[in-house]
Amino acid sequence: MIKSPRGTRDLLPPDTALWNFVEAAVRDVFRAYNFHEIRTPIFESTELFARGVGEETDIVAKEMFTWEDGERFDEKKLIEEWLKANQSDDPHQVQDGRVNVQGNPSFLTRLKELGVQLQVWRGIQTKSGLTGRVELVAFRDKVSADAIEALRKARSLAKSEYSPEFQNHSISPRLVFPDRVPILYSKKTGGIFGDVIVEGLPGNFFSSSQSLTLRPENTAGIVRAYIEHKLWDRGLNKFFSIGPMFRRERPQKGRYRQFYQIDAEVIGPPSSGSESPARDAEILEMVATLLDRVGITGWTLELNSVGCTNDRAKFNEALRKALEPVVAKMCSDCQRRAVTNPLRVFDCKVPEDQPVIAKLPRISHFLDEPCRAHFDEVQAILKSIGVPYTINDRLVRGLDYYTRTAFEFTHGALGAQNAILGGGRYDGLSEALGGPPAPGIGFAIGEDRLVLSLSASAESVIRKPDVYIAPLGDGMNGEAARLARELRRHDLVVELGDETFRLKKSFEAADKAKARYILIVGENEVKADAFALKHLASGKQDTVPRAELAGRIAQGG
Ligand code: AMP
Repeated sequence: MIKSPRGTRDLLPPDTALWNFVEAAVRDVFRAYNFHEIRTPIFESTELFARGVGEETDIVAKEMFTWEDGERFDEKKLIEEWLKANQSDDPHQVQDGRVNVQGNPSFLTRLKELGVQLQVWRGIQTKSGLTGRVELVAFRDKVSADAIEALRKARSLAKSEYSPEFQNHSISPRLVFPDRVPILYSKKTGGIFGDVIVEGLPGNFFSSSQSLTLRPENTAGIVRAYIEHKLWDRGLNKFFSIGPMFRRERPQKGRYRQFYQIDAEVIGPPSSGSESPARDAEILEMVATLLDRVGITGWTLELNSVGCTNDRAKFNEALRKALEPVVAKMCSDCQRRAVTNPLRVFDCKVPEDQPVIAKLPRISHFLDEPCRAHFDEVQAILKSIGVPYTINDRLVRGLDYYTRTAFEFTHGALGAQNAILGGGRYDGLSEALGGPPAPGIGFAIGEDRLVLSLSASAESVIRKPDVYIAPLGDGMNGEAARLARELRRHDLVVELGDETFRLKKSFEAADKAKARYILIVGENEVKADAFALKHLASGKQDTVPRAELAGRIAQGG
């Protein structure tokens, strides 16, 4: 049986009703705050996330679904580079890096068929004369079982058939492939597969390739679109989007590899007031309204300021110093982070590292005056509108682009993955992506988690059929369909039966569909143009003329 891939899931009815309920409610709220919908592609260039989110973040370094698209493998270049590095210094045996084999054309033809080449001769001077090794090499775009098998065949052919002049030489099969230093972090590949040496050659052996990534978050995509379409020229600066995101995380409750986010972003030139603490407070108040609106109570807003570039540099320096004497005891990720981007040490989830992290300096002590004043003003406005919050100066969020205000809304019902949503300000992101100065602030709600923390049930928000139409007897399907069409035009939810059903079966079907009414369409009813309408809960039944049906069904409880 084919199942949905690990970390993905099907959203099924009736749960989808809850999702629609949430989406309809948030769309209403966004309308009231003058946010407009933007839909960006679910994949983007890998570079967007590397530059936007940050190469040292867990998201970019470990969790992205990335692939090379539209690429062509340049085998010639791979061969040339490999030969350059492996050129034999014995000109008698080798021409242009290829071994000179005389006398056995069928062997060479067979090798060619296998896609294997007889390449460099490596002569070694020993006491008994010149011996050496001949490389049997397959050049491939990747390591594959087929290529390894071909090399094994070539080797046994060589043993039995190759030119006598190589009798004294050993033959080593070797598979050479482009070890693409993955764009973002380098991973050494290669090794020995039985008797075959597998060798990765670093460098770019693919042409016209483009690295693409399924979006792990959408702020970078929205800012990309903002820059690409010069949205500031159109006076647009408040956007929302709803859609799937992809991260290769370890799946657990509330954490999936395909999950859904509801994003909202305010971004614009500084002259539009996009830098103002009033925007931060407005966004936070909007989230509070939104959570109230979908009926989520008991949330906590955790708030911090992660400062600006200046503060960050000083803070990173202080962290680097503080980490120096202790980092050797920490996990390997932290050891790397301590050098490349110390702030990311706060993302560490290894339990043994937590006591060390707890003693590290706090960002709140490093804020410069403008950042402190900005943060104070955000808090003052929140107090005046009555949005409760707690300060958490350990909250740095797992994305590099954040500046100043950073926040999370958490909910107790969610267990370990308790953040319903997170967000913050990203004043330098547009410039980092090659755009004009455009301070911004936004958030992403984890829709999966929002739905998990709803107290409403799917049953309570789903709209059940108002009426089940039961055609009774031959030739009644057409009449029933005509009635269904009329009633549906009155915005009624109509479920339609089939004329082959007996009355008992129609009643069972109406019950199962949880319809409020059942409407009987038989020959007599059609003749009279009045139909038997029965309210299923009370058992009350009436004959209702066609013209009055819609009104009666709409009114009836
Ligand atoms: P982030 O983009 O990491 O700031 O995440 C924003 C919100 O998205 C989080 O607070 C979660 O609610 C949600 N989220 C992030 N990753 C996942 C995931 N793998 N599965 C489900 N929800 C997620």
